Amino acid sequence: MKYDYCPTCGSKLIQKQAGDDGKVPYCESCEKYWFDSFTTCVIVLVYNEFNEIALLKQLYLSNKYNVFVAGYMQVGESAEDAAIREVKEELGIDVEKIEYADSVWFEKGQNLMLGFMAFAKKHDFKLSKEVDSASWVKYSEVPNTLFPDSPENAAWAIYRKYLKKLNNK
Ligand SMILES: [Zn+2]
Repeated sequence: MKYDYCPTCGSKLIQKQAGDDGKVPYCESCEKYWFDSFTTCVIVLVYNEFNEIALLKQLYLSNKYNVFVAGYMQVGESAEDAAIREVKEELGIDVEKIEYADSVWFEKGQNLMLGFMAFAKKHDFKLSKEVDSASWVKYSEVPNTLFPDSPENAAWAIYRKYLKKLNNK
């Protein structure tokens, strides 16, 4: 989001030099810069001890393709905390180990997607209402039902990191 007016006091913003960042919208009354803002999301490849990956079907996103756990970050939490929370909310299972995988800018939604790989023991899911169905799928079959690969598809970026990790074992 780009700011023309100050979200705090409503004044028209001016363009002011902000060090190395160049000209940035600035409120003279509040003496505050308003950098462009965007929403940060986490996306999580959840895997278990059998090299299976949790694939979710969310009809509001697609009735054809599967997705990984994903959600918006909340104010005050770390990206790792957000990833663990989303897995618990959507699948009802506890993450035992989490590691950062990759990040992708999603132009259409203007979102920064932070990708993680999370290990959880194989348990039955207890799905949130946002999730229509979910299943553990053998890792090699995962590409068959993901949204097609593209530079903006964070799921694929994480999946490739997961394959690397498997091959390094
Ligand atoms: Zn202001």
